[in-house]
Amino acid sequence: MTKSQKTRFKKVLEAKRGELLREIGERRQGLAIDTASDPMDQVRNLADRDFAVRGVDRLCRMLRQVEGALRELRENTYGVCARCEEEIPLKRLEAVPWSPFCVSCQERLEHSAQGGEWEDFEPPYALAS
Ligand SMILES: [Zn+2]
Repeated sequence: MTKSQKTRFKKVLEAKRGELLREIGERRQGLAIDTASDPMDQVRNLADRDFAVRGVDRLCRMLRQVEGALRELRENTYGVCARCEEEIPLKRLEAVPWSPFCVSCQERLEHSAQGGEWEDFEPPYALAS
């Protein structure tokens, strides 16, 4: 990977990190408990809250991936699959710049997340679903 490609990915990743941080902050504010007096409203608020919590969770996992990718850029290990250590094709990085895996490892990971076997697999950090 050339220096200018790395610079480009760094910009994309930093922009994504800023976007995620802002969105997580906004959603967390929205999570403040609304004390509605109507029991039906309370039930609905709880359901909304549950939905919002799951959304924040997903955003936080993605943020960790983005930060992991930025760290890899600093350490010069960016663009290498965290599992098989093959280079991740540039096309894939352009589609998902924070992806720590090549396509085939990602597929195996998804397979194992669905209850399939994948021995000796240690994700480097929590993964976005
Ligand atoms: Zn791989």
